[in-house]
Amino acid sequence: MSRYLSERFASLEPYTPGEQPRDMAYVKLNTNESPFPPPPEATRAAARAAERLNLYSDPRLTCLRKELSRVYGVQEENVLCFNGSDEALLLCFMAFCDGQHPAAFADITYGLYPVLAKVTGAPFEVIPLKDDLTLNVNDYVGIGKTVFIANPNAPTGIALAPEEIRRIAQSNPQNAVVVDEAYVDFGAESCLGLLDQCENLVIVRTFSKSRSMAGARLGFVIAGEELIRDLDALRYSVNPYNVNSMTLAAGEATVKNEAWMHSCVQTICLNRAWTEKELKALGFEMTPSKANFLFVRHPRIGGKELYLKLKARGVLVRHFDRDRIRDFNRVTVGSLDDMKALVRETKAILEEIK
Ligand SMILES: *Cc1c(COP(=O)(O)O)cnc(C)c1O
Repeated sequence: MSRYLSERFASLEPYTPGEQPRDMAYVKLNTNESPFPPPPEATRAAARAAERLNLYSDPRLTCLRKELSRVYGVQEENVLCFNGSDEALLLCFMAFCDGQHPAAFADITYGLYPVLAKVTGAPFEVIPLKDDLTLNVNDYVGIGKTVFIANPNAPTGIALAPEEIRRIAQSNPQNAVVVDEAYVDFGAESCLGLLDQCENLVIVRTFSKSRSMAGARLGFVIAGEELIRDLDALRYSVNPYNVNSMTLAAGEATVKNEAWMHSCVQTICLNRAWTEKELKALGFEMTPSKANFLFVRHPRIGGKELYLKLKARGVLVRHFDRDRIRDFNRVTVGSLDDMKALVRETKAILEEIK
């Protein structure tokens, strides 16, 4: 730390992203990226936009907001785009959390939430999941805090029903309730249908997982018009050109080709079912995942040991070295070839330690 750093950030513990190693070609199952490229017209649109890099991107994000509002059946005033959903989450913490509106989220969920709470100075409560890693909805009913819920949750993949989110939102009318639907396309039910009944609901989505655009950094929020205006005021205050023109162009082309996404998602879901079955046959236990990853543990090998042995064999998964989930690894569901490599190497490791 330099002596110039603001005291506010002296004890900050930054978020640790999954490794992006360049030392060898791994079967990369550690950051929940899509194994598929975005549709070819998206890459072409980005290349065309690159020819006009001398100009600023559209600060109003008009074309992409229009396309998203069409696909999701809402008004353009209900949609706003961000530099990844991580930026959307940051602005949600800035906009909707303070001493009067403390944040609340689970102990085991997206690791960025506590980091964002700290960096924005928001007071927050961490609420433990149950022993089976499911969320107790009653813990949040009437809590009087700004609730952040990843649905499906990460890294467990466990999803709540919209009805449960509705209970949380309607019982906390003084607070925003932020539902992070990063993985919802892989088989959970979206809370979009609740927007009419819950004016405090904020739905956060990303292009990074189901839409194969993690490297482009694109996320969006769907919410009531007033909440969107609040977020937009903050966006204009911190980063008015937050989404670059290549990403805007690629995003628009991707949204226009929903069939492409549906086909990718369908393949991932089939590969998830295949991997579940294979890993269970090897003795693994896992949470019921509705996401593009599995959260797995084996009674005969520790989480860290399995992670390291897989890495040595060229397969990268995500291990979280923290209480309650140390025995687990989170395995992204990739292509069938990726999953076959995972199962093959895992089998060899289990043989080895017999
Ligand atoms: C991947 C992920 C995000 C981040 O998405 P970006 O749009 O890439 O910033 C947000 N929330 C959860 C729960 C995620 O897993």
